[in-house]
Amino acid sequence: MNTLDSMLERNKEFAAQQSAAGTLMPSLPQATPNLKATIIGCVDMRVDPVHILGLKPGEALVIRNIGGRITPAVLEELGLLGRIGEVIRQSPAAGGEFHLIVLQHTDCGITRLTGDPARLAHFFQIQEGDLQAKAVTDPRAAVAGDVALLRTIPALPAKWLISGLVYDVATGLVEIVVPAAPIRTT
Ligand SMILES: [Zn+2]
Repeated sequence: MNTLDSMLERNKEFAAQQSAAGTLMPSLPQATPNLKATIIGCVDMRVDPVHILGLKPGEALVIRNIGGRITPAVLEELGLLGRIGEVIRQSPAAGGEFHLIVLQHTDCGITRLTGDPARLAHFFQIQEGDLQAKAVTDPRAAVAGDVALLRTIPALPAKWLISGLVYDVATGLVEIVVPAAPIRTT
């Protein structure tokens, strides 16, 4: 059985199980009581938030790019999600807290792009001379910088809890670099 056939077989199992459990979501809900977070993470196959954070269907929106970095493209997606999502806006009001989580990781492939500063600068939409500030080789500094950047975005709801995490690919554990706190306190 080839790769795609194998995946399609697994899809049939998934559909049967989810259908039996009543956890399929055939339409986009008006309010989403189980939605707890938006997660920005890396595309790396070792760091899928669904696996490492044990996410269940409907619990989180996940945006992934190289590095799990905050770029203009990610900010645009967050903005569009805000438009789609009355979904996101209603969720915190439906009771409980809502998290915005930046999840980066050790041994990230983005560090191998440091030899190509022009493309890396384009990814961040900054000048090559400003790349140092993005701390591409240091995930703890990078995640702290990206959380700080998100705090400057006025469109994000002040009461959302923002945090910065680094997943260690060697231990399988997540380290809290920036503890969860409201985006703005005013
Ligand atoms: Zn990565």
